[in-house]
Amino acid sequence: MKTILVVEDEQKIVQLVRDYLENAGFQVDSAADGQAAVEKTRQTKPDLLVLDLGLPGMDGLDVIRAVRRDSTVPIIVLTARAEESDKLVGLELGADDYITKPFSPKELVARVRTVLRRVENAPDMREVIRAGDLTLDLARMRLEVAGREVELTPTEFQLLAVLTRQPGRVFTRSQLLDAVQGVAIESYERAIDAHIKNIRKKIEPDPRQPRYISMIYGVGYRFNEE
Ligand code: CA
Repeated sequence: MKTILVVEDEQKIVQLVRDYLENAGFQVDSAADGQAAVEKTRQTKPDLLVLDLGLPGMDGLDVIRAVRRDSTVPIIVLTARAEESDKLVGLELGADDYITKPFSPKELVARVRTVLRRVENAPDMREVIRAGDLTLDLARMRLEVAGREVELTPTEFQLLAVLTRQPGRVFTRSQLLDAVQGVAIESYERAIDAHIKNIRKKIEPDPRQPRYISMIYGVGYRFNEE
């Protein structure tokens, strides 16, 4: 059974989330402040964290920083609308997904399942990535779209590999920039937009209405799940 650690100081929300997650077959643990969250994560090694950013004392972003020092546990961040910019920072610090308050508990359960599925598919070890019609052969740096070979530059290939490894996940421009750091690239986030535009021209049937790669306004890009 997977254990979810819910970090939230509002007991009503903890109870609600607990009920839904337990009904969905998860074991649920909770922490009411950041310090307790960091300690519990180290000691009990939960399978996923649902982390509210608005916590007394050590805030949620500090919790992500502390947890990420020695753990890759998936983290779903809860943010209030007033904390919109925090969701970006949260993703950059290594959170896996975010949900805006007020949220539907059903939606949260669905996100928890999706993030856990992503992690289980442990894509890093795979030599060949298949996502929708796309096949990326990592060793040969070859891309096929619906059986047709498409030429990409090394930077474009690297970017597409990052996106297709985790369909459905939103990446910020600066995360994408980090991901292609091994490749010569202008150290400027807008460069990502230019590369994405080029990739779209090569793989999208209609680049003006992209089917594979979506831009998430104010955040970055995502390779769409089927
Ligand atoms: Ca709170």
